[in-house]
Amino acid sequence: MEATKLAQEIKSLALELGFAAVGITTPEPPPHLEVYFRWLERGYHGEMGYMAEPHAVYLRSNPAELLRSCQSVIVLAARYSAPGPYLPSLSRGKEERGAYGRVAAYAWGEDYHYVLRQRMEILVQRIQEKLGRSITYRCFTDSAPILERELAQRAGLGWIGKNTCLIHPRLGSFLFLAEIFTDLPLPPDKPFLPDRCGTCQRCIQACPTQCILPNRTLDARRCISYLTIEHRTAIPVELRTLLGDWVFGCDICQQVCPWNRRISPAPSFPEFLPQTEREWLSLSDILSMSQVEFKQKFRHSPLLRAMWRGLSRNSAVVLGNLARLGEISRLAALELLQKKLSNHPEGLVRQHLAWSLTQLNSDLVSQTLREHIQQETEPMVRAEIEAWLTQNNPS
Ligand code: SF4
Ligand code: SF4
Repeated sequence: MEATKLAQEIKSLALELGFAAVGITTPEPPPHLEVYFRWLERGYHGEMGYMAEPHAVYLRSNPAELLRSCQSVIVLAARYSAPGPYLPSLSRGKEERGAYGRVAAYAWGEDYHYVLRQRMEILVQRIQEKLGRSITYRCFTDSAPILERELAQRAGLGWIGKNTCLIHPRLGSFLFLAEIFTDLPLPPDKPFLPDRCGTCQRCIQACPTQCILPNRTLDARRCISYLTIEHRTAIPVELRTLLGDWVFGCDICQQVCPWNRRISPAPSFPEFLPQTEREWLSLSDILSMSQVEFKQKFRHSPLLRAMWRGLSRNSAVVLGNLARLGEISRLAALELLQKKLSNHPEGLVRQHLAWSLTQLNSDLVSQTLREHIQQETEPMVRAEIEAWLTQNNPS
């Protein structure tokens, strides 16, 4: 089959399968590698050591190495459920606010790694049926060192916004990206060159931690998405209040983007529809869950990525934030924090529970912390408590 016709057929098959957009590019090095190198040099990747690992850097710079016979990359986009506009507080409504933490929209459904890989395998199968022969290919979705947004921009799917997301002019940015590397020689699409952000600054102004940098990159060390999902140790004290009610990820810089205003909220695949109790998580439930229960409850969910201790740590911080802001009963928060501080098995979580207690502005905080430190064995928890007691009760 002639290459242009085959490319058309592949695109039709992808759209028929449910993908929202598809484009084709070459496996050449991505267009803005220098920006990526500078980002790494400045340490903006934080604890994500795998981003700076030499072999991973080499592969990001040379995508063709992921499949030696690669001639084309088919870049696919799939919509996930889009949240409504961002409401800074009380987005659940006062009466139903409760002690719940907000979850980024991409994690409301099933894990995209499984869902998209399965759809890509079906797409390859259909391409092979059309051709009457097998092809050489590899499928990826956030599963290999690939600068996915760069390839998507070069495949004509959209531009990289100031918030660092790939923005499709009709579909917005609540998109998963996936790639099929193949030995098929296909004509590449034209890159998407216009920068439709123009003079807009909404994402930069709305970002709670001011971590959006001028060159379409982020200081990941301050980004709530990174802090709540990838960061494995203590959340820096100065950033804890800025987490607000985000217990997993953060959608603010996408929610305020005008290009997401008139998009369909429906996902491309039914597996991405919001599952029960996924948009908001009960903080008390998370803090009471064992590691085994966590793995069971969030099986096949992107929430697993934060791991039990990470999600529990985040829940502790959000509880303190909600109580400080008066969004939940301070007395109920105090009781829950006292109980969990005394019995949570994970030191990292107790450290953040102790911090959350200090957000309550209650006479009982000092007393609770003084009593707790008598039995606390974990040095980082003791240090957190001692620092606060020294600062607040200098005598
Ligand atoms: S995800 Fe949140 S914290 Fe990160 S850049 Fe966007 S608005 Fe800022
Ligand atoms: S909010 Fe404005 S500046 Fe930010 S990505 Fe969207 S259009 Fe670009």
